[in-house]
Amino acid sequence: AMEKIRAAGLLRTRGLIGGKWVDAYDGKTIEVQNPATGEVLANVACMGNRETADAITSANTTFYTWSKLTASERSKALRKWHDLLMSHKEELALLMTLEQGKPMKEALGEVNYGASFIEFFAEEAKRVYGDIIPPTLADRRLLVLKQPIGVVGAITPWNFPLAMITRKVGPALACGCTVVVKPSEFTPLTALAAADLALQAGIPAGALNVVMGNAPEIGDELMQSTQVRKITFTGSTAVGKKLMAGSANTVKKVSLELGGNAPCIVFDDADIDVAVKGSLAAKFRNSGQTCVCANRILVQEGIYEKFASAFVKAVQSLQVGNGLEESTSQGPLINEAAVQKVEKFVGDATSKGANIMLGGKRHSLGMSFYEPTVVGNVSNDMLLFSEEVFGPVAPLIPFKTEEEAIHLANDTNAGLAAYMFTKNIARSWRVSEALEYGLVGVNEGLISTEVIERQIKSLNLLRYEPTM
Ligand code: ADP
Repeated sequence: AMEKIRAAGLLRTRGLIGGKWVDAYDGKTIEVQNPATGEVLANVACMGNRETADAITSANTTFYTWSKLTASERSKALRKWHDLLMSHKEELALLMTLEQGKPMKEALGEVNYGASFIEFFAEEAKRVYGDIIPPTLADRRLLVLKQPIGVVGAITPWNFPLAMITRKVGPALACGCTVVVKPSEFTPLTALAAADLALQAGIPAGALNVVMGNAPEIGDELMQSTQVRKITFTGSTAVGKKLMAGSANTVKKVSLELGGNAPCIVFDDADIDVAVKGSLAAKFRNSGQTCVCANRILVQEGIYEKFASAFVKAVQSLQVGNGLEESTSQGPLINEAAVQKVEKFVGDATSKGANIMLGGKRHSLGMSFYEPTVVGNVSNDMLLFSEEVFGPVAPLIPFKTEEEAIHLANDTNAGLAAYMFTKNIARSWRVSEALEYGLVGVNEGLISTEVIERQIKSLNLLRYEPTM
């Protein structure tokens, strides 16, 4: 499989700085492993603060030319990058499955999703409009110009090795910013392959730089730099807090997408097939390793037994295996630590009275495979309720009233995504608005799309310059 990627010229193992593929100064490398087999896929450059400083310098220099192009010129380069990502779909998906473990079908889906951000923002690039404001004095005119903020530092996680990068880099490049990306050390190969395609698409040397290795060192260098004007991060809440605090000193803008603890509420009046299908998709995508994964399935008591047995049946049909195999719908977890976390959460729940309805242990395939699991009678004193399990474990939590469901759902400090299943229209509006979450899926388990990003992204990548 790696041969196929090498043959396509997409096996990159060095960092990308100023358009050149470079080794770490001290020649250090780190291994990238296949979580399904333990096989070492590649040794990639292990970089730190010096290489990051070089990448920032390169991004800063390039900012003065890239930001001066017309939106249409930037748009064309992005469009070409999108097309190259799509024409290398197979290789990118393969690389993703190899280093991250997700099934090929999901990996192919991620290439589409990842590329969609580049396409969407290539189009948006041409529509960064300003404003003309009615003046306060008769002989003055007030104009708002929107201008790119400068160098952006983007730090991304391993669960979406491509999409979390394009989602940050697409809008940044589109409006004229330049970027230093730090992908996760677990999944740098997809990031580097995508960056290679960006170069081929004519994104200029230095507009997109990639460094990886020592995460705290790279993070600190990005934080300290006065040239880096914005930090965009997807990952754990703990690291996000560090980056937010670290950005204060140089007053950077920050966009953080942190941990979730998504509730998925199944009401008595739900269509049971829709609810099973939707919660299965919301829970088990990427083996439960997404920040919008349903973390708590709240089920109303009138439908609890019926839903639970239909849900268990659906989970039983999931095929665990190496993502390269056609039949696989559940790959391994990213590493041993991830499995240990799942084991700890499940152990905590059973010790407090929850019952395992399916799975509940490591899979016979070994490595970091874990059985798709359903745990019944989970309550709010358990880790499965209060924290993000990030694995293939579906906790079912019974509730009686709508009020109780809303209260339980909002009983967390993570407000990323929520899901609800009901056929009652009034209830769907009422509950959606009562849920303290950024995204709410109604009768739908897969809600991520590039087209909602505009609201979130546009403000932080631009500086506002009022002129009179
Ligand atoms: P996850 O649990 O998803 O791995 P992390 O927050 O640990 O979440 O990782 C997300 C990204 O943050 C990764 O690219 C990781 O290398 C990076 N990271 C981890 N620690 C730091 C740090 N101290 N400074 C900057 N980036 C960091």
